[in-house]
Amino acid sequence: MSEKIILSGLFPQEICEKLSLKQAFRAKQIYQWIYKGASSFEQMKNLDKETKAVLEEKAQIYSSTISKTLRDPDGTIKLQITLNDGRAIETVLLTDKEGRKTACVSCQAGCAMKCAFCQTGQLGLGRNLTAGEIVEEFMYMEKEAGTLDNIVFMGMGEPMQNLDAIRKAVAVLTDKNGRALSSRRITLSTSGIISGIYDLADNGPKMRLAISLTTADPDLRMELMPVTKGNPLPELKKAISYYAQKTGQRVTLEAALLSGKNTGEESAARMIEFAKGLDVYINLIPWNPVPGLDFKTPDYKECERFVSILEKNRINVNLRKKRGTKIGGACGQLGRSAVEKDEIS
Ligand code: SAH
Ligand code: SF4
Repeated sequence: MSEKIILSGLFPQEICEKLSLKQAFRAKQIYQWIYKGASSFEQMKNLDKETKAVLEEKAQIYSSTISKTLRDPDGTIKLQITLNDGRAIETVLLTDKEGRKTACVSCQAGCAMKCAFCQTGQLGLGRNLTAGEIVEEFMYMEKEAGTLDNIVFMGMGEPMQNLDAIRKAVAVLTDKNGRALSSRRITLSTSGIISGIYDLADNGPKMRLAISLTTADPDLRMELMPVTKGNPLPELKKAISYYAQKTGQRVTLEAALLSGKNTGEESAARMIEFAKGLDVYINLIPWNPVPGLDFKTPDYKECERFVSILEKNRINVNLRKKRGTKIGGACGQLGRSAVEKDEIS
């Protein structure tokens, strides 16, 4: 492991203190170079020799490295990133019809939530990522794909369990003197940790919120998502309502559709009941296969039947197309590289 000071995820004042720089404006210059995408100290043209020497001796910009870049013919890109302790994480780029680029970043190596249908959930939790590591995911993807428009915390891990690091990463990425990303372009997705939803509503930062509902049938949800145990559906609904009121933002509900499990009329009725009184948008994702898991992807007809019941009840619903499945980069497929290093080449 490197002993050097890692600069990603630090504000100018922190850079100044950690490097014991005499001139504060030098730290600001370093900071601005990092968010312009500099990958070496040599590129930091306006620095004096002395500062460059301090940097070379004591610091490095990034702590992680890209171990593999995978490109799906549909335009999706997946980066496999190795952290400085050897753990593996993944970051995905999605491009929509209008050409907007969204980085789907991980906030943990693995995940503790154990959702039955998710690849990452099978890994268990390795550890939380640092703010710097999250910032690095974004910056690496930007180097790979060009200027990014959006960031979504929908990669590996449960964001509410690492909210402090996410807050710091978001503060850095939205800082006007740095990368200056707009906060309207940030979305966080949670499996439904109620205390985190209130925390985010009350203490910010302001961002869009998505909830992985999956199903509004309490018994089935308990079976598929153990998080339901400490976070029951009626309380979850109250928290969503609070978030929407407090922030003035419409919340998204997500559901991975599992053939024969959560796509029937009864499931649709439960979802409609859950959505009643909430101003929500529902995003449906046909299940992406995960090796070793015994679920089936519903066919188009099964999905459409579910969609049409929701639509009849005037619910805003969207059936997502498959993206990045060829490179294991679709929702719920992240993390295979952590167990099987060479499965795709
Ligand atoms: N951990 C966070 C965010 C990442 S998961 C969360 O769970 O909200 C992103 C979305 O993909 C979640 O809505 C999750 O339910 C869904 N998902 C998980 N595994 C999936 C799979 N195999 N196919 C389709 N969607 C999946
Ligand atoms: Fe974790 Fe999200 Fe996967 Fe559930 S769906 S195991 S919360 S990454």
